[in-house]
Amino acid sequence: MYIEPRPKLSSAGSGAFYIKGKLWRIVLATKTPSLALTPYQVNRYSRHIIMPQVGSVGQRKLIDAKVLMIGAGGLGSPISIYLTLAGVGTVGLVDFDDVDVTNLQRQILHFNDDIGRPKVDSAVETLKAYNPDTNVNVHEEPITSINAMEIMKDYDIIVNGADNFPTRYLVNDAAYLLGKPLVDGSILLFDGQATTYLPGNGCYRCLFPTPPPPGEVPSCAEAGVLGMLPGMIGTIQATEVVKLILGVGDSLSGRLLLVDALSMEFRTVKLKRNPDCPLCGDNPTVTELIDYIAFCGGAPLTG
Ligand SMILES: [Zn+2]
Repeated sequence: MYIEPRPKLSSAGSGAFYIKGKLWRIVLATKTPSLALTPYQVNRYSRHIIMPQVGSVGQRKLIDAKVLMIGAGGLGSPISIYLTLAGVGTVGLVDFDDVDVTNLQRQILHFNDDIGRPKVDSAVETLKAYNPDTNVNVHEEPITSINAMEIMKDYDIIVNGADNFPTRYLVNDAAYLLGKPLVDGSILLFDGQATTYLPGNGCYRCLFPTPPPPGEVPSCAEAGVLGMLPGMIGTIQATEVVKLILGVGDSLSGRLLLVDALSMEFRTVKLKRNPDCPLCGDNPTVTELIDYIAFCGGAPLTG
């Protein structure tokens, strides 16, 4: 996928967005057009295909798309399952954890019998059982400044389900430097957040220029998380991905969705690109990947 300018229209229309007064749109960088759908695919995806916003062209876009999930845990579970069910052709998973009994309260990719197995192994099995036609690429390693660009470069869209600050900043910077959309989400207790960062229209650093001091923001392991929260936020992230692929609707780019499951209130706040952002601002100082562990004050990478 790449982003290209297109002639100004009276309205931005589907899948288009303005950056610095210029109209842009997301385009899948498919070198060879996908083949026509088979009768089996027409049947399997019929509830999508009859939707005017999808149709057979949209379904072929989904089949051509390559989406990378950072993490095969709470958020990565519903995201990868729904994208696989939707017929997304290639789903990548970055994770190096093993399945732990405490994961099973929310991580629907994994089952009792998977305890002790690498998460990527049980994830592949689950996703293949859901839809054998989806290619599932696994990257069983921690994502670092050394390998991030190489892992991410072949995917159209990056989806963040990371649960620690060094990985959040790393994935944000790498997605921006590669010019790829990043669909972000986070969860804690009864609260969730989701947004979409389109290159040039703001980034995680615009919102959070500096990481919190180590230990100030508790992790889900320390503070807890309602088991359904990753389902709520993850399905919102998966919906954002599918809209970007189809080029329909308005993405959460420029907006942060805040979900409070206790009051069951959903609200959005505006996000603006910060001209002083060290990454996507007018005079960037971060022009390549840095040491994110040191940047985040030595916060350990936890799974
Ligand atoms: Zn920024």
